[in-house]
Amino acid sequence: MAALPDPFARHLHPAEAAEFAQDGRHCDVRRCREPVTVYGWYRRRSGALRLGHERFLCTGHGADFGRRHHLEIEPAPAEADVRPHRPAGTPWVHLCGMSADMLEAHRAAGWHCDAPRCREAAWYLASHRYRLQSGRMRQDARFLCVRHAESFAARHGIDMAAVTPPEGDSR
Ligand SMILES: [Zn+2]
Ligand SMILES: [Zn+2]
Repeated sequence: MAALPDPFARHLHPAEAAEFAQDGRHCDVRRCREPVTVYGWYRRRSGALRLGHERFLCTGHGADFGRRHHLEIEPAPAEADVRPHRPAGTPWVHLCGMSADMLEAHRAAGWHCDAPRCREAAWYLASHRYRLQSGRMRQDARFLCVRHAESFAARHGIDMAAVTPPEGDSR
C-alpha cells in the first residue's frame, strides 16, 4: 500500500469552488453555510492504521484547519490539474480496491464514501496527484463507494476491469 501523504490544505481553484456552489454544497463544518474554498486532507488514527480523511471548508474554517494541523494553506493548482482529462495510463490518477485492513478499519471507524453527501460504504481508494505552482507534487486521496469509484474511473479514462478489486465483496 502506498504511503499516505502528510496532512495538507490548499485553496480550491475558482472552477472547483464554482462546482461546489452549483451543487449547493457548503462548508463541512456543522451549521456553517459559507461556500467551500479550501480543501483539507489529514490522517486519522483507527486502531493500528492511519487513514486519510478529507474536508471541504470555507475560508474561515479552512484557516482554523490550517492552524490546527500547523499547515500553510497552499495555493490552488492550475485549472488543467483540478479538471484532469488525461489519457489512461498516466501516473496522475490511481484507483484501486481497498485492502482487507483498510476496509476493516474504515468500517470500524464508521466512515463511508468520501464523495459529497454519499453515505454508501467505501470500497475503493482513489488518488489524484498534481503539481503545485511551487513545483511540488501533492496528492489528494479519497475513499469511494462502487458507484463513485465507477464515475471517478469514467472521468479519468480508467478501465474498471483493470482496477485491482477490493479485498471484500462489494456486490
Ligand atoms: Zn465554515
Ligand atoms: Zn459514494
